[in-house]
Amino acid sequence: MKIAVVSGKGGTGKTYFATNLAVAVGAQLLDCDVEEPNAHLFISPKVEGEKLVCVKVPRIDLSKCTFCKKCAEVCAYNAIAVVGKQVLVFEELCHSCGACSIACPEQAIYEENRPIGVVRWGAGKGIELVYGVLNVGEPRATPVIESVKEMARDGGLVVIDGPPGTSCPAVEAMYGCDVAVGVVEPTPMGLHDFSIIADVCQNLSIKLVAVINKSGFGYEDVKSFCQKRGVPVVMEIPFSRRIAELYSRKRLLVEEESWRSRFAEALDKVSEVV
Ligand code: SF4
Ligand code: SF4
Repeated sequence: MKIAVVSGKGGTGKTYFATNLAVAVGAQLLDCDVEEPNAHLFISPKVEGEKLVCVKVPRIDLSKCTFCKKCAEVCAYNAIAVVGKQVLVFEELCHSCGACSIACPEQAIYEENRPIGVVRWGAGKGIELVYGVLNVGEPRATPVIESVKEMARDGGLVVIDGPPGTSCPAVEAMYGCDVAVGVVEPTPMGLHDFSIIADVCQNLSIKLVAVINKSGFGYEDVKSFCQKRGVPVVMEIPFSRRIAELYSRKRLLVEEESWRSRFAEALDKVSEVV
C-alpha cells in the first residue's frame, strides 16, 4: 500500500506525522517535499547512495540551423526563441518534451542532460528513507519527485511525504497512491487548504482520510467538513507544548510505546478505506 501524506497548507505537521507513522509501522519513507526535505532530520539516516537527477534540454548546432523558427513555434512553454541569427533556449522554462527536436527540419537540435537535483537513500530508526533535494533556484520539482518515487519498493508499505500546496509537485507525489492522508490544523486557513486537497483527491480518484493536528482549539468546522464530505478522521494529535518540544529537538513521538500503538491504530483505520 502506498500512502501519500499531504497538507495543502504548509506547517501543519505533515512531515512529523509521516515520519512518525513510517517508524511506528516499519514502512519505507519517501520524502518528496524536495524543495525543503527534512524527514532526514528526524531519521538521521546513514546515507548509502546518491544519484543525480537530470532533465533533457535542447542544444542547437548553429552550423545546421537555418533559423526557420519552427522550434519556437512548436514550443508550448515559450522556452525557445529565434532572434536574428541566434536561437535562445530558456532552460528553466523547458519541460523536456522534445517537440522542438522533432519539429526541426535540419536535425540541428540535440539534447543534453542538465542536473537539477539529487536523490539520496539510507536507513535510520529502523526504516529505509529515500529523499530528494531540488537545487536552489530550480523551478521544476516534479522530475526529482518522480526519481524519488521510482525507488518505492514493490509490495509492503510505503509512506510518501508530499510537498505542501496543491499544485503539480503535490499532485505528482499523490499520483498512483492508494490513499492520501491530509494533515490539517483546526483553523479556518487549515480548513480552506484542506478543502482544496479534498477536491484534488476527488479529481484524482484517490481516497482521502484526515489527521487533525494541534487539535483542541475548539474550532469544529474541520470535523463538520470531514463528515459532510465522507472523509474519515483517523487520528487527532493534541496541541501540546510537550509535543512541540519533542519536535524542536528532532525527537519522534513514537519513541514512546503508547504513541507507537496510536500510530499503528491510525494505519489500521487508513487501511479500512483502501
Ligand atoms: S527548427 Fe531547427 S533549423 Fe529551424 S530555427 Fe530551430 S533549430 Fe534552427
Ligand atoms: S524540449 Fe519542449 S519545452 Fe523544451 S524547448 Fe523544446 S519544445 Fe520547448
